[in-house]
Amino acid sequence: MRLVIILFFINIFLLYGQTIHYYNHLNPPLNETLSISSNYGDIRSSSFHFGIDYTTKGRRGLPIFAIDSGYVSRIKVEAGGYGRAIYINHNSGITSVYAHLDSFSFSITQFVKNKQYENQKFSIDILLEPTVFKIKKGEIIGYSGNSGQSTGPHLHFELRNTKSQSTLYPFIFSFHQKDTLPPVIEKVLLYHSFSYLSKDTLPAIKIIPFNKNKTTNSTSQNPKAWEVPEKFFIGLQAFDYLFDKSRKFNFYHSKVLLDQELIFEMKFDEMPFTETNLVSGIIDFQRRNLTSENIILQYQYSNLSFTPIKKAIHSGMITLNDTLTHTLTIEIYDFSGNFTTCNLQIRVSKKKGAFFNNNSYKEYIVAAGKQKIVKLGNTRLIFYPNTFYDNTKLFINKIYDLKLLTGEIIEIGHENIPVKSVFGLEIPITNVKPSLYSKIVVTRINGKVKESIGGEIKDNTIVAKTRKFGRYTLELDTIPPIIEFLNVKENEPIKQNFITVKITDNLSGIKSYNGYIDDNWVLFEYDLKNSTLVYTFDEKCIVKNSIRKLQIFVEDNRGNLERKRINFFY
Ligand SMILES: [Zn+2]
Repeated sequence: MRLVIILFFINIFLLYGQTIHYYNHLNPPLNETLSISSNYGDIRSSSFHFGIDYTTKGRRGLPIFAIDSGYVSRIKVEAGGYGRAIYINHNSGITSVYAHLDSFSFSITQFVKNKQYENQKFSIDILLEPTVFKIKKGEIIGYSGNSGQSTGPHLHFELRNTKSQSTLYPFIFSFHQKDTLPPVIEKVLLYHSFSYLSKDTLPAIKIIPFNKNKTTNSTSQNPKAWEVPEKFFIGLQAFDYLFDKSRKFNFYHSKVLLDQELIFEMKFDEMPFTETNLVSGIIDFQRRNLTSENIILQYQYSNLSFTPIKKAIHSGMITLNDTLTHTLTIEIYDFSGNFTTCNLQIRVSKKKGAFFNNNSYKEYIVAAGKQKIVKLGNTRLIFYPNTFYDNTKLFINKIYDLKLLTGEIIEIGHENIPVKSVFGLEIPITNVKPSLYSKIVVTRINGKVKESIGGEIKDNTIVAKTRKFGRYTLELDTIPPIIEFLNVKENEPIKQNFITVKITDNLSGIKSYNGYIDDNWVLFEYDLKNSTLVYTFDEKCIVKNSIRKLQIFVEDNRGNLERKRINFFY
């Protein structure tokens, strides 16, 4: 057993050098058998997961330990996102992050609460000097929970480079089980290029299913060479297992080789924070929207830099100038060095044009990596240099619908087109009295659902920015938020040690809220996913055995204000 551990250690040491010494001497963040529900690099709907999620088996309140000595550099509390999160800077130049906590350690909780009362605000984001909270390795810093945007109790654990705040692959501790399972390649897809205009036609031209059962260092069994076009790049449906086959994770490292020569390489070892939302430029975005499959492209768009792409000869585009048989090799590695190889014999098809049908389109623009303004009547669309990953064919249209406020919908591209960064919309306001201008929002119509993207009024125009293509129109929000008392009844005693209130808004969303007991501001903690506010009775509301006054004020993003008052006995 000891020999195995030593061999494993040496193996890791050889692969990753001196730094692993450091990582192997850290304290686990949880004092439990660590079970992982999401790994670094996993693909979420609009971002990569850039930490590790440790399951807490449905439980909350498990102690969270600092992985190393250091100091608390940041404390963040928010209704969504990370909920309650703590950042610790270590001497090694690494920051560890612990998110979705139920609570902080006693001294940190007191500190946070004082700040919240001082600011009369629940959400805080404080950067701290090294002297405020010094932390010892293994010290309890908080308790696990389900706060913020979390779908169940777990610990989100993250490592960052302190200086650059770049996120790092954190699966590097000696306290994890050994991963001996190799990654799996399910499909190899061949692409010529992308044409997103028809939402029904998927762009892959050839799908090669790979033998799922033969994993380690296996070769696909094709006696005949696959026929391919002269120019193509590939996409992979591949994943990794960690300790067992119960969950699939994203792979760590991929290589594409043509006749032994490296064409493309991708390694999810590090992602700057600004790159973590570039999912739509790394996967076949249209296929994901239509079939829910995540195909990871082994291709680099011209307007994309992504740290995990380590090599991209001709952007990953493979060109074959002869009719000979070539070997296309795909290698997938996990972090522990397990790998799967797929060797495909390929040859250019003699049938010209056998692979692509070139559709012709009614109207489109090609927006490259520079600014472009498109006018549609008095509406202006502003595409910035960073809006697109690559030159993009775009259909822009106006649809008349007299039931709508402005009588029209602006249709911009299609929701299956990947967008790298925002574009601007400038829509003139018509048919609205100036007194109602402040209530206008730009909405995105998705089937029957209308989603507000806000917007700012400038003269007679509303200006908004968005990262999604689709259909847009204007809407009025004159309806205030709704407040419901969940466990308070008029003039009755409170049965629990807390007060809970539900707050919701129909369109523009909640901007701010405040709760008062007997005209004193009290800390209502906001949980966005449940739309609830919770005040836990504390020294700010001492028992008086009398009727007390509770007031809640909520304002939406269009200045619609709601106030509700109730008396209770406490
Ligand atoms: Zn997470």
